[in-house]
Amino acid sequence: MSEKAWLDVAVIRCPVCGRYYVEASWYAVELGADIECGDCGTEFNSKKYVIDRLMLEFEIGKNGLAQKVEISEHIKTEAEDTE
Ligand SMILES: [Zn+2]
Repeated sequence: MSEKAWLDVAVIRCPVCGRYYVEASWYAVELGADIECGDCGTEFNSKKYVIDRLMLEFEIGKNGLAQKVEISEHIKTEAEDTE
């Protein structure tokens, strides 16, 4: 028998060069932290450029080590809510 744990993450895209990032949602969406793009150096507000948000499901074995990760569900982003 394996246990399960979850992580809510957001996919963010740099508005200048288009590089994708994945951050924990509490950091990108709840906190709305500014991040700096590692490719082009642009600093932008992560919350404004969230393009997807999803729940990752971790399968954790008896030994406490994660065995497998999969996408459990897509969560509505704020951009979709204001449609
Ligand atoms: Zn960039």
